[in-house]
Amino acid sequence: MKLSGLPFLKSLDTFDFAFQPSLDRAQVLDLASLTFLARKENVLLLGPPGVGKTHLAVALAICACQNGSSVYFTTLDAMIRALAAADRAGKLDAKLRTYTTKSQLLVLDEVGYLPLSRAEANYLFQVISNRYERSSIILTSNKSVTEWPEVFGDHAIATAILDRLLHHSHVMSVKGHSYRLRERAIAAALTSQTPTVSPA
Ligand code: ADP
Ligand code: MG
Repeated sequence: MKLSGLPFLKSLDTFDFAFQPSLDRAQVLDLASLTFLARKENVLLLGPPGVGKTHLAVALAICACQNGSSVYFTTLDAMIRALAAADRAGKLDAKLRTYTTKSQLLVLDEVGYLPLSRAEANYLFQVISNRYERSSIILTSNKSVTEWPEVFGDHAIATAILDRLLHHSHVMSVKGHSYRLRERAIAAALTSQTPTVSPA
């Protein structure tokens, strides 16, 4: 768990499924049984900001850790920056192993927020194709897969990435509202209940 780089520790027990009715609870619980990991399948969590994609990815990653699997968590942006820096230093192959052979589960968070250049998309392709049918990836994205070619700037690479990623995969689209905004709305409602002094 310490080596995994998880940004926080949250489990499925604290996930409010009632708030996200578009999400198939049975499917999530089935993923928590980790059959996908044994079969080297991927999990894609798609949806707008705040719907719990990272929470779910972390919760599944913790299940994997508890089951004795090695896990590595990174945002796409951090991974691309690390690979680009290693490439400049002539150490790309060694760095690629951090994201390929060194963990049984790679969590790739926040795919799609920042557009990638062709060279950057190529780093992602190398990671995905290296893990293909060898080890699982849990990926989160705010973009639907049809929007990926735009994000990756290069249709050929986007198609090649998607082809491998989706071949053995579980795709979950979360279509609900942001939990962050819900918490803010509750906070705002509580504040507005406290007496305020009106200007007149
Ligand atoms: P996303 O990655 O989709 O942008 P996060 O997973 O970071 O969203 O969720 C935002 C915050 O809201 C986190 O603190 C997360 O734990 C919480 N959260 C999101 N959805 C739920 C939910 N259904 N039940 C409980 N907490 C949630
Ligand atoms: Mg997130």
